[in-house]
Amino acid sequence: MTEISHKIDYTQFKTHAVPCCVCGSEKHEFFCTKDGMDYVTCCQCSHVYIRNQVSETDLLSIYSSRKSHHNLNDKLKWDFSRMKAKLYYDKLLKRIGKYVDQGPLLDIGCSNGSFARAALDGGWDALGLELEESSVATAKAHGVKVIQGELHSQSFPDNHFHAVTMWNLFEHLSEPNATLKEIYRILKPGGVCAMCVPNIRSIGWWMLGPDWHSVEPQIHLNLFSTKTLSLLVRSNGFHVRHQVTLDIKPATISAWIKGKSSRKTSNHAASVAGLAQKSPAKMRLLFGLRQITNPPLILTHSGEDIFCTIQKPKDKTKRNPFDKKLRCSRLVM
Ligand SMILES: [Zn+2]
Repeated sequence: MTEISHKIDYTQFKTHAVPCCVCGSEKHEFFCTKDGMDYVTCCQCSHVYIRNQVSETDLLSIYSSRKSHHNLNDKLKWDFSRMKAKLYYDKLLKRIGKYVDQGPLLDIGCSNGSFARAALDGGWDALGLELEESSVATAKAHGVKVIQGELHSQSFPDNHFHAVTMWNLFEHLSEPNATLKEIYRILKPGGVCAMCVPNIRSIGWWMLGPDWHSVEPQIHLNLFSTKTLSLLVRSNGFHVRHQVTLDIKPATISAWIKGKSSRKTSNHAASVAGLAQKSPAKMRLLFGLRQITNPPLILTHSGEDIFCTIQKPKDKTKRNPFDKKLRCSRLVM
């Protein structure tokens, strides 16, 4: 998903209160406030979300009309993405390949197409889906098949894709259940969906609270934990095959060291991409340090990102995939 780089005046949009997307409960408590907007936490399942949301149509029009990812130029973004490709994407593709044969892969919110490019290079028949026009153009320029638009208007065939991926997209969605149902429909039985979302129960939140860069109420409508994410995907019929939390971001450490006064400028993607441009060696060192910092974060489920790999059952007759009565008996932590 292409992220916006400046604040929106949400007062111009009509909002409506939504229940918890994980368990459906209306009972909630105040969690935190930022930029004049409140996150609440569900009293039943502890999910953290924005309760007063704009309509899906307004949200799409906001994204369609906004500037691209952190104002970074296309070349810098692409170079950064290719560096990530070598360090991250090949591993992610390998993990997906553990559960399903190579075939059609859909990367929803593909941004400049770098992951889809890596998937193509790795032998997948990759297709990207992206709202933002300039990102679509960049992806196409790098030989990636990409459709400009959103998932629900595509009418993909049933049981078609072997894999669907969503990197830093799912937390943006106002209707995550509807998206999971659509992904379930278009995945073949045994097909895999892999995603990455910020982890609200992470070291980033503990260090910085609302100043943590992932607390972005205008665009991050749902802030998941490993518990609430697995609860949600299971209630939509998926099996959780792999879930891990990884990474503490340089921007988080830097903001914590510098203190509160500079925290509001904390911007992970921009700072890391800037480092990638200025000093590739330092960038490699940074990624190397992950080998030291990640084991304790994995053990304590406190990494800043949740990577989750879920699978549509091969035999879908076993139970109704959308049986929401199962939800609260399926807490995993
Ligand atoms: Zn809930």
